[in-house]
Amino acid sequence: MLFDSHTHTEFSADSEMLASEALEMAERLGLGLVFTEHEDLEVAQDEFTFDPEAYWKKYYPLRGENLRLGVEIGMLEKSLEGSRQFVERVPFDQVIGSLHFIDDLDLYYPDFYKDKTKEEAYRRYFWEMAENVRRHDFIDVLAHIDYICRAATYDDPELDYGSFKLEIDEVLKAAIETETVLELNTRRFDEKLAIKELVPVYRRYRELGGKYVTMGSDAHKPGTIGAHFYQARQLVSDLGLQVVTFCKRQLELCD
Ligand SMILES: [Zn+2]
Ligand SMILES: [Zn+2]
Repeated sequence: MLFDSHTHTEFSADSEMLASEALEMAERLGLGLVFTEHEDLEVAQDEFTFDPEAYWKKYYPLRGENLRLGVEIGMLEKSLEGSRQFVERVPFDQVIGSLHFIDDLDLYYPDFYKDKTKEEAYRRYFWEMAENVRRHDFIDVLAHIDYICRAATYDDPELDYGSFKLEIDEVLKAAIETETVLELNTRRFDEKLAIKELVPVYRRYRELGGKYVTMGSDAHKPGTIGAHFYQARQLVSDLGLQVVTFCKRQLELCD
């Protein structure tokens, strides 16, 4: 079964989706789900965190073949040990690592970009990402390598592998060497240019020895669960990569 391995329910500060709504939609689409709630420690007044025991207690009865229980942790050097302890509190199925903040600035808002050129901002972003993947030796998946493109304030916010080859290669090598699976996040797949710029990144991942990807919609609403999965799956197989998900922190092939 194909899994949407990146979704947010009401345990995430920025989502109101109910588990029942998510499961109903996934069933209609013939997909399995991994819930991956936000845990960003030591930033944004601890808005983006949750009680893992309450989460486990509430969702454990729903957990099964079609539903896995995960977490999306925000990777920061200063929260490394806190996050490590957090993920040990309950037996999560899958731990995603994400880079959402740099220098206490949320990459989703303009402040991070205002005194930087695109080159400066993106180089910094990829270096931080590579270092944090190596540091966070307890993550299974690296989320949305193109997260910065969602909100960067430049005329052309796309990744452009050619301009950031060294830096992107560092991220890909960090993922491969630490056996961290690269996610293909479909959130920006409604933009043709976004897909075009992601292709060389995933092709390079394959060239460097990457084999697996998870697919994630990053849905915060039922309507975006599994969004663009047909196209993403085709892309993954064209590049010679294999779609996987995680159960009890173990990699599982999706057919
Ligand atoms: Zn994220
Ligand atoms: Zn997310």
